[in-house]
Amino acid sequence: MSAIPDPLRYEFESLDSAKAAVRAFVMDCGESFIMSHADRTHYILACRDTICKFTIHISVLKGSKISVTRYTPHTCSPIIHQNFRSAHSVAYLLERNRSAVADNREIQPAQIQSNELLQFANSGVSYQQAWRVREALREEIEGDEIGGFRKFRGLIDLWREGDEKNHGILDTVDGQFYRCFIAPAATSAAFISCRPFIALDGCHTKARFRMTLLVACTLDGNNEILPLAWGVVPIEDSENWIWFLKHMKHAFQELDTKGTVIISDHDKGLLSAVQEVLPHVNHSYCSQHLADNVQKHYGFACRNLFWGAAYAYTEHGFQEGMKKVREENQEAYDYLNEISHTLWSQYSFPAPRYGHITSNIVESINSSWDEYRKLPVLRLFTSTWAKVMATMHLRRHRPHHSECITDYAKSILDANYQQA
Ligand SMILES: [Zn+2]
Repeated sequence: MSAIPDPLRYEFESLDSAKAAVRAFVMDCGESFIMSHADRTHYILACRDTICKFTIHISVLKGSKISVTRYTPHTCSPIIHQNFRSAHSVAYLLERNRSAVADNREIQPAQIQSNELLQFANSGVSYQQAWRVREALREEIEGDEIGGFRKFRGLIDLWREGDEKNHGILDTVDGQFYRCFIAPAATSAAFISCRPFIALDGCHTKARFRMTLLVACTLDGNNEILPLAWGVVPIEDSENWIWFLKHMKHAFQELDTKGTVIISDHDKGLLSAVQEVLPHVNHSYCSQHLADNVQKHYGFACRNLFWGAAYAYTEHGFQEGMKKVREENQEAYDYLNEISHTLWSQYSFPAPRYGHITSNIVESINSSWDEYRKLPVLRLFTSTWAKVMATMHLRRHRPHHSECITDYAKSILDANYQQA
């Protein structure tokens, strides 16, 4: 008999917790066991090899104390422990793969197999078993996805309880989740002091049920990006954009005015939806998307020349730029000419776009929310909500350089002062 190993040298609360600790201890050593005896007061493990002297005794002592009372290590060959099925059980593998799956929910089962082999010398974990481990941990980490849809109504009620101006909408079909929308009261209030410039875009969610996340964001007085409203819909089309924009119009005062600029790719139903719901706004083409189209159909050289025209501040500069496009490729020129210049060119767009001729601000939100898009819808909404609220709190309470103007405006004033 040898000294009881450290991890087993204390009193356990129950026989079950003692059994679990002992089994995990043996498997963490890369070893195996069989149960040789079990009753209400004793639990004894032995080796699968009949000659090996390995044993661990768990005993219920006087006063219901539960301890390991005897330990003799293995004396057998390591080959005995190969393909020990308990070491491949999902219950056992969950514990030590939790952080790996939390870190990367897209982790491949082969990676889990490889971790088990390289880190824990646990060979023989099947692909299917590794897959089960990943799925069980995903469900544990992300919460039951279908259950999340059912809880959505509760989340909206909670938001409204917190502030009745939180504009949360859940659409159901036959009692089932169909689509949802949220415009926090805080962003509705903040919009008054933001640029009247809103970028719209949709992107896919990446959880088990693939849907589309629609996002609207703006630039605040400090020229920083602020998500205003977002929603999840089954697909990106005109009907869903109309639904989304109608709720935006309800949540944001004076959205549909001449001074407001909406910028988007004009694609997937957006053009008609904006015309229908917000007939008074200026709906700008995103020049990034135009550039992508030009490159796709007419080559990279045309793309570069296109930017020269798009960014030109004067009509003369614009015509010069377009002339270069025509010299490179007549069809590219014709394509760009078919789209009214006032919808995209810097020089003739009828309202301020604050230096942005693309909808990149919303795309940068979509990519910074990449992790959240992998979550089930309920978690996606709680996480994005928390993120936006934290951002607003931070911006409000961080030290400011002036009490009457934003830091962005102050930096421009200071620069001008230096030059004067
Ligand atoms: Zn042994």
